[in-house]
Amino acid sequence: MKPSTNHREGASSQMELSIKCPTCGTSTTYSKTNESRPFCSDRCKTGDLAAWASELYAVPVADKSSEDEDNQDID
Ligand SMILES: [Zn+2]
Repeated sequence: MKPSTNHREGASSQMELSIKCPTCGTSTTYSKTNESRPFCSDRCKTGDLAAWASELYAVPVADKSSEDEDNQDID
């Protein structure tokens, strides 16, 4: 076994990553202090969730696989 020589480990825990808000594209910080991460604000966070939810509800449920018929347990 080789001894791991990863000196960068630990540095990432304190580092603040600069990202872009997935909702509005505003530069924000991905850190523990940012409660809305990876979004820039709570509004963007909830707004994205709402969009995601509505998208989910918009999908028609037509893909119903009949596993019951295919899984007959005949003894
Ligand atoms: Zn945003």
